[in-house]
Amino acid sequence: MRYVSTRGQAPAVGFVDAVLAGLAPDGGLYVPESWPQFSKAQIAAFAGKPYHEVAATVIGAFAGDEIAPDALLEMCREAYATFSHDAVVPLVQIGPDAFIAELFHGPSLAFKDVAMQILARLYDHVLAEQGRTQTILCATSGDTGGAAVEAFRGRERVRVVALFPEGRISEVQRRFMTTAVEPNVACVGVKGTFDDCQAIVKQAFQDEVLRQAVDLSGVNSINFARIAAQVVYYFTSAVALGAPGRPVSFCVPSGNFGDAFAGYVAAQMGLSIPRIVVATNSNDILARAFEEGRYERGVVQPTISPAMDIQSASNFERLYFECVAREPVETARTFTAFAKTGSVEVPPYALTAMRGLFRGVAIGEKETATTIADTLARTGELIDPHTAVAVAALRRASDLTGPVVVLSTAHAAKFPEDVAKASGVTPSLPRGAADLAGRPERYDRLPAEADTIKAYVRAFAET
Ligand SMILES: *Cc1c(COP(=O)(O)O)cnc(C)c1O
Repeated sequence: MRYVSTRGQAPAVGFVDAVLAGLAPDGGLYVPESWPQFSKAQIAAFAGKPYHEVAATVIGAFAGDEIAPDALLEMCREAYATFSHDAVVPLVQIGPDAFIAELFHGPSLAFKDVAMQILARLYDHVLAEQGRTQTILCATSGDTGGAAVEAFRGRERVRVVALFPEGRISEVQRRFMTTAVEPNVACVGVKGTFDDCQAIVKQAFQDEVLRQAVDLSGVNSINFARIAAQVVYYFTSAVALGAPGRPVSFCVPSGNFGDAFAGYVAAQMGLSIPRIVVATNSNDILARAFEEGRYERGVVQPTISPAMDIQSASNFERLYFECVAREPVETARTFTAFAKTGSVEVPPYALTAMRGLFRGVAIGEKETATTIADTLARTGELIDPHTAVAVAALRRASDLTGPVVVLSTAHAAKFPEDVAKASGVTPSLPRGAADLAGRPERYDRLPAEADTIKAYVRAFAET
């Protein structure tokens, strides 16, 4: 399987190189040259299989012959053994044709664990083969850092530096990063915003000297391995509800559009998905793009679903590329313009293609809170604010027929104050994390200055 850049100016590479690079050198995102296909019989055969076996089959279709199937199966077994639920991603019914897929049973209680746990094992495997050591630098608005620290702590070939905006993430989110005791992990509370952290990461990646010196790598949601890992639960959820014989729709709380794009990929691979509802909070760039055909950045507004407080959905470039018939010149032109002006038009034929699968719905703060309370009253399920955005969006999408799966992306206990305020019930942490508040924290504090943080990364990588 070869991977091409959405902007067409970088050479095609194999799976391993696409994963280790993250972003393509021309600024584009890697996508497979063609989508692997599963027949109805192959999809039907997923029924009743353990999650890690389906994961090895689906991810294996993207890795091709670059990762030995036995090794991949073992990595998937280990990755999903860290989840506290036997089903890994269980389904819970919340209405006649409505289900929640709980993606939050991993070590950091957010759906990012699903991809990060396997990604860490892929890195270790590949870097050992190549005799390399890398430094992963990531900026987090809350959940990515915790998932990355949980996945990479104690791994031999990788050091992780996680930058978070000090004082702007929840205490539970912070503690999932800062209580790791392994020496290959460093957390930095930056005196600034998430955007400052992300800008510093970008500058670090553009610094060729630093990049070479510490073999810098990124694990944000543009990494194709994360998308591949997220395709898996579309298959397992749909098959549990009767696929391939029965079409199943999805409703996805969205920010950077990685999770919802994985659903598009599952559909390209042969899964029958009539509709994917892209649910956003008041940071509604995606909802507006699908409804109005204009992809236009707004000002980031803080909400109670902070992992979706994003006004530039990186993975949208992958869908755009697909919907302009994989025309790289057009894609490069559009996203270069977007970076400059913050606003681009989706051509009508591409919008029609997008709306063949996607609809966008934006949900305000009040409705998010009342949905948490309503859902508890109606079903007994205590959902987190991100999931609530999607449950509310599903209610608006009244023209949907057949079963719909809402992807539940975080455990309610990750946002205890807002959930308690909305519902009157304080969610408790699951057993494995119950002592989180008592674990000692360890992190450094630095100003939002690229040079200071680059020097910190370099010194840490050289210890
Ligand atoms: C990251 C995240 C999202 C958004 O997922 P994208 O793939 O970026 O669209 C939604 N909910 C939670 C809890 C998250 O951590």
